[in-house]
Amino acid sequence: MSVPEPAGGDEVKQAKEVEDAEKYSFMATVTKAPKKQIQFADDMQEFTKFPTKTGRRSLSRSISQSSTDSYSSAASYTDSSDDEVSPREKQQTNSKGSSNFCVKNIKQAEFGRREIEIAEQDMSALISLRKRAQGEKPLAGAKIVGCTHITAQTAVLIETLCALGAQCRWSACNIYSTQNEVAAALAEAGVAVFAWKGESEDDFWWCIDRCVNVDGWQANMILDDGGDLTHWVYKKYPNVFKKIRGIVEESVTGVHRLYQLSKAGKLCVPAMNVNDSVTKQKFDNLYCCRESILDGLKRTTDVMFGGKQVVVCGYGEVGKGCCAALKALGAIVYVTEIDPICALQACMDGFRVVKLSEVIRQVDVVITCTGNKNVVTREHLDRMKNSCIVCNMGHSNTEIDVTSLRTPELTWERVRSQVDHVIWPDGKRVVLLAEGRLLNLSCSTVPTFVLSITATTQALALIELYNAPEGRYKQDVYLLPKKMDEYVASLHLPSFDAHLTELTDDQAKYLGLNKNGPFKPNYYRY
Ligand code: NAD
Repeated sequence: MSVPEPAGGDEVKQAKEVEDAEKYSFMATVTKAPKKQIQFADDMQEFTKFPTKTGRRSLSRSISQSSTDSYSSAASYTDSSDDEVSPREKQQTNSKGSSNFCVKNIKQAEFGRREIEIAEQDMSALISLRKRAQGEKPLAGAKIVGCTHITAQTAVLIETLCALGAQCRWSACNIYSTQNEVAAALAEAGVAVFAWKGESEDDFWWCIDRCVNVDGWQANMILDDGGDLTHWVYKKYPNVFKKIRGIVEESVTGVHRLYQLSKAGKLCVPAMNVNDSVTKQKFDNLYCCRESILDGLKRTTDVMFGGKQVVVCGYGEVGKGCCAALKALGAIVYVTEIDPICALQACMDGFRVVKLSEVIRQVDVVITCTGNKNVVTREHLDRMKNSCIVCNMGHSNTEIDVTSLRTPELTWERVRSQVDHVIWPDGKRVVLLAEGRLLNLSCSTVPTFVLSITATTQALALIELYNAPEGRYKQDVYLLPKKMDEYVASLHLPSFDAHLTELTDDQAKYLGLNKNGPFKPNYYRY
């Protein structure tokens, strides 16, 4: 038997030197930047290849149009059809007489404020950041132009940035995800927000433009989710980059575009990839999916899991979360894997590792989480038993071969929103959820606590880039220094009354660590 060759040494790409420097006192104990940051190579996507907005419309809600990798929480409670006049045609002023915004209806501000207050309750890390930084204003002078989902959770982030001294102008990264009442509350509070639910393609770019192209105000920081804002500035106002100190990007797609720019030597400012921060990744993939797989399945099918046979394809972070949740409810869980390490992990966790074909006739639920294509084929679908539920938790809708089901002999019956019964000539039905798109983003909500992790990471990345001494960051893409990643986690510990153990001097010396972190090397896998 031949032993495979080890991979080449460039799996871990160039390390970046990041100088140590003192930070604001509210972070002083935890935020000395580590010496080296790993820079990820990327050959995924050309910056210029922007997905069409048609793609946005096919997604059910709150999925970043240029990416399906970031999300807002619940859908808006406001009905976008309540008023047919475009917000662009309306003259609105807030109670202070300002009309420096464009939202659906400023009168909804009070309702939006209540939504923001509810979100604040599960985003205590941001609130404590506001308190710790009070008086110091680490973002004083920062002029941040932002393009993210506009929801109650983002509003907590935006208001935190303002409390830390920044001026903000904001547009939505998704034409459907804006909570109109929240946008109204932000506008009432004095934030220049240009967004409403149900924007047209033209509105979308107009709103971004209104944030960037302003007389007497020029942005010096960008916070983007999906890369559309960054693209617009590159295309229309390249001179703005002379003043920009950095870009913070949240989504996989936006980050790929930045790496592409960097590779082509076209990135003219430092950028922070917050998507790959350890804390954010763990929450997005493992913990969030552990909760939302059940939420999505229950909402769509009312299924009871106890005693059901479920097969989960892929035992990566998402698969591990799904398996853990299903096992806890008494389901009999099978795993399929291509990677022996993940397969062995599944065995150690008490799951039977099988080929899909071995169990396909008997299982009640099939869940894909591989990020791969054609994992569930027409042949598998043909062999499934009556009422088998099929869904996908992976990034794209390629995992289940849904196209193969669109043939004349099969009948499709829409039984509920996001639920199709596909009926075979003999009467067998397969229950297909969200047409094979991401189940949780299509059919459930994302917990505010998960979004709090992301928002805190974004806030710290902005503070770091804005305050970094000249030369610490070059025109390249960086990960958040590990110490800040640790700080994000530490800000969330009080929610659980968790008490962290402190290293003694002797222990720190023994382990070769600074008592205040970072506690792990960059290559550590959590
Ligand atoms: P991962 O790489 O950790 O796990 C994927 C696993 O699938 C790997 O272990 C891989 O070996 C396995 N795999 C690949 N092809 C397979 C096949 N044909 N059969 C069986 N197993 C196979 O990735 P992850 O972090 O778990 O993410 C998985 C997917 O979920 C990605 O597409 C990711 O973008 C997406 N994702 C979804 C959410 C969500 O909210 N639903 C959140 C984060 C990530």
